[in-house]
Formats: sequence, C-alpha cells, structure tokens
Amino acid sequence: MDPIRVIVQNCVGCNLCVKSCAYDAITLSGPVGAREGKPTAVIDLVKCTLCGACVEACKRYKAIVITRSTFKGQDITKYSGICVLAEHRRGKLASVVPEIIGAARELQKDLSAPVSAILVGNGVRKYTDELLSYGVDEVWMIDHPDVGDFDEDVQAELVAQILMEKKPEIFLGGGTVVGRSLLPRVAAKILTGLTADCTELSIDQSTMLLRQTRPAFGGNIMATILTQNHRPQMATVRHKVMKPAEKVAAPQGKVVEITHIPVPKSKLEFIEFVEEKTATVNLVEADVIVSGGRGIKDPKNFALIEKLALATGGAVGASRAAVDAGWIPYSHQVGQTGKTVKPKVYIACGISGAIQHLVGMQDSELIIAINRDREAPIFEVATFGIVGDLFKIVPAITEQIRKQKARRGTPRVC
Ligand SMILES: Cc1cc2nc3c(=O)[nH]c(=O)nc-3n(C[C@H](O)[C@H](O)[C@H](O)COP(=O)(O)OP(=O)(O)OC[C@H]3O[C@@H](n4cnc5c(N)ncnc54)[C@H](O)[C@@H]3O)c2cc1C
Repeated sequence: MDPIRVIVQNCVGCNLCVKSCAYDAITLSGPVGAREGKPTAVIDLVKCTLCGACVEACKRYKAIVITRSTFKGQDITKYSGICVLAEHRRGKLASVVPEIIGAARELQKDLSAPVSAILVGNGVRKYTDELLSYGVDEVWMIDHPDVGDFDEDVQAELVAQILMEKKPEIFLGGGTVVGRSLLPRVAAKILTGLTADCTELSIDQSTMLLRQTRPAFGGNIMATILTQNHRPQMATVRHKVMKPAEKVAAPQGKVVEITHIPVPKSKLEFIEFVEEKTATVNLVEADVIVSGGRGIKDPKNFALIEKLALATGGAVGASRAAVDAGWIPYSHQVGQTGKTVKPKVYIACGISGAIQHLVGMQDSELIIAINRDREAPIFEVATFGIVGDLFKIVPAITEQIRKQKARRGTPRVC
C-alpha cells in the first residue's frame, strides 16, 4: 500500500493541500469527486516527503491519510549505551574524535550508560590507548589487513554488524568527510535515522531520547530531531563545536577485539590520495585564522588577508557577505551556515560581527577585530579591537610579523 493516499470520496477539490505542499507534490488532476464535482487531489510519490502538511491542511475533509510503516522486529528496549565512531585516516585518529567522545560523556551524565568506541581498519590497534585515555569504557575493534582506509563500503558493513551485535542506544560520528560518507551507509544498512551535522546534543528529560539539534532551511531555524522508533539514534557532530573530552588520569576501559565478523571484499578500488593544495592551512585545523568581510570591498583585496595568513602560518576565513559576493569560495565561510572554528587567534578584518558570524568563531581563544566602525558588534567579542582602516592596518601588521620572523625565526602561537 502507498504510504500516502487520497480518499477520493472525501476530496472536495478545495486546493488547500496543493497550497500546503512545499514540494509541489500535489495536483488537482484526479477523477471528478462525488462531493463537489471537482477534480480530486493526486500525490506524486516521487516528490512527496511524507511531511504531513497536506494531512494537516485537509483536517476538515480527512481526504488524505499517511500510513507510516513501522520497522518490525526491532525491540528498542534492548539497546543501551553510547557509542562513537573512532574515525582515523592516514595514521592518525581524526581530531573530531575527542570532541565526539566529549559529547558522549556529557550525555552519559544523564543516561548513566557506558561509552564505547568502534574502531575498524588495518593496523588500528595503535589508537586504542589514546581512545581509552579519553575515558572510553570499551573499544570494539576490528583490526584486519583487508580493511583499507578508503574502503567505506567494507567499513560501513563492519560498523553496521558491530552495532547490530552490541546494540548501543546512541551512535555518534564526526560531521567530517569520512563521517558524512560512512554514517549514512551504516544508517541505511541497519534501518535507522541519521541527523547530520548536529551543533547540539542533549537528552530529553521526559522521554530520555537524544535531542539532535542542527541548523535547517539554510540556517534560518534550528531543528531538533528525535529518533523515536529506531535504534541506534544516530547523529554526526559538527567539527569544533563540542568540547573535547579531557584525558582521565588512570584509564579503566578495555579493548574488545572482534574477530568473528567476516570482512567482506571491497567493491572500491583505491587509486591515489590527492591532497587539496592550498597556499594556507586547513581552516578548521588552523591555529590562526585571518578572515575578511564585506569591508574588504573587492576580491583582489583578499590578497591582503592571504598575506597576513601566510605570515602567521594561518588560514583564510571569510564572512558570508564576502562569500555571497563571490570574492572567495564557500569552503572559507565561517559562521552558522559555514564552518565553526576555534583557533588560538582569530583576526576579523572588515567584518561587522553579525550573530550568524559570531556563532562560528566566538569560542576562539583570542579575537582581534579590525573595523573602522567603533560601534561594530564584533568588538563585543573581541579580545583586542583596532578601530581604523583595514587597508592600512592589515599590511602594517603583516609587515611587523615578517620583520619579527626575519629577526627571530617563525613566531610561535601560544
Ligand atoms: C540564515 C542566515 C545564515 C547566515 N550565516 C552566516 C554565516 O555562516 N557566516 C556569516 O559570516 N554570515 C552569515 N549570515 C549573514 C550575516 O547575517 C551577515 O550579513 C554577514 O555576516 C555580514 O558580513 P560582513 O560582516 O562581512 O558584512 P557587513 O555586515 O556589511 O560588515 C562590513 C564591515 O566592514 C567594516 N568596514 C568597511 N570598510 C572598512 C575598512 N576600510 N576598514 C575596516 N573596516 C571596514 C564596516 O564598518 C562593517 O562593520 C547569515 C545570515 C542568515 C540570515
């Protein structure tokens, strides 16, 4: 049976459902209805997302019904504990891992449940001490020579098998390139939902469900999503948003090596790893970020920002105004709908400090704002504010840093 149906004998062809549908999935093109003698509603199942807006609009006539099928065979009471994906690439644990363990340990305070980590790959045993040092109770590990770093099909299968066996109530991964590729595959395999790129996680005190909060509709609203009927409750967490777990003095956790799950053959062939080449360093990982906003006035003036970033060994960021103007690619955008960053030093040049920008950088350790408007809101979060013309100040700072470097070698960010 279709998951959404029009009951033709109830439909009066009033058009309310058509107006309510944000996905253009309904037309009045069905057979003429008996009640009003008008064409009745037809729902395009390809476009329909089962959002339920039309059912709400048709409350009076009850001509549209949704039959949500519930996944049978999953007893959600059997699930407990919080689990994280111990993502790694090219010989290192991903820097998001301590952050998701930190988030898991915060949730643990409400759930009183153990925190575990899934670690799969080839030669991954070396990461177990680090994982346990963050207070993880158990590391569920598959260390096998046939699991390649980039075999996401194999890794997804193994992670799914472990989840089905261990049954954690919550499973979290990083909102990274790997997490965004791996976790949807896992969610599809085990028939559960996934909330991507969460900026906040908490436990609903009345239902004890995971509240998964993330920006939606281009950042215009914050949506909180609950996974009521399926387990685990799965979410990816945006990098640099959660506080990293602190290391524990005497780790008590243990490593559980899993050898009975067979490793499937990968359908993917790894050809080559090509690192993105940028003159400056990766934005999210950078200790120093120099960002430009609309005050830069012209794309070619971003050269000033790049020079200061190069002099400090940092990365180039930007406000959305600069990105929207096409002066710099979106990958540099800092803020609510861009990247969240927490560098040691954030230098904002010609950025007013709109709330949507501030939420992406206000946790930086030291903020230097350069703006000619002394009332600009950026100064409210700045550690040091310089009121003046960025076209004079930015080159002067760059020059000073270069001189210092020439005298004393590369300055340390401390
Ligand atoms: C849903 C939504 C999501 C958004 N997401 C983001 C986001 O992720 N990131 C983001 O940044 N914004 C975001 N925005 C946009 C945000 O509201 C602001 O419009 C944007 O941050 C403004 O960018 P700006 O500070 O560069 O420009 P402006 O607000 O125009 O500020 C330019 C500043 O430059 C200063 N200036 C001008 N000339 C000079 C000079 N010669 N020397 C020194 N200072 C100078 C001015 O005094 C001014 O303060 C979002 C908005 C919405 C509605």
